[in-house]
Amino acid sequence: LPEVAFLGRSNVGKSSLINAFLGQKRLARVSSTPGFTKAINFYRVDHKFWVVDLPGFGFAKVSPKMRAQWKKLIETYLSSPRLIKLLVLIFDIRREPDELDFMLIDYVKGLGRNFIIVLNKTDRAKKTELPKLKKRYLDKLSLEEEKVFLCSCKTKEGLEPIKQKIWENIG
Ligand code: GDP
Repeated sequence: LPEVAFLGRSNVGKSSLINAFLGQKRLARVSSTPGFTKAINFYRVDHKFWVVDLPGFGFAKVSPKMRAQWKKLIETYLSSPRLIKLLVLIFDIRREPDELDFMLIDYVKGLGRNFIIVLNKTDRAKKTELPKLKKRYLDKLSLEEEKVFLCSCKTKEGLEPIKQKIWENIG
């Protein structure tokens, strides 16, 4: 079955986005998937596709060892011959992208994985600042504009185009 995977630092709103995408869809959670630790959650939706909830990573609080383990897990998943139709990378639009973000995007591009970038929590920034905040991501992470979506999981603004994009890819 095709998969759509969600990835982001902890607290960016990954769970909120997954919930917004799935709405009322019933989820079957499969806790133990061979080859992966329990850190990755797989949810099967209507026998049609999997929603893959990749572990968020905490950063400052996380030890180098933990981070190395996290990196290995993500790499193992992303480089596996799975039918990953789309990778949804979620960021907090207010946060400045850093070196680790750059490396992650670079890695995903190198693998040739299909991905989109979601800049969440737009409600927390001034409307007039949004273009500048978006451009910061485009420039720093060398992104094509059509891959970048802005939204607020809180106000629901901007969610429809993201949902549509995901459905397009797994449909
Ligand atoms: P996760 O750790 O990435 O899965 O993030 P969650 O979905 O659990 O959200 C983390 C926190 O951010 C929660 O308190 C959410 O209510 C809040 N949150 C998520 N999306 C938004 C948003 O678009 N705007 C605001 N203001 N808060 C949000």
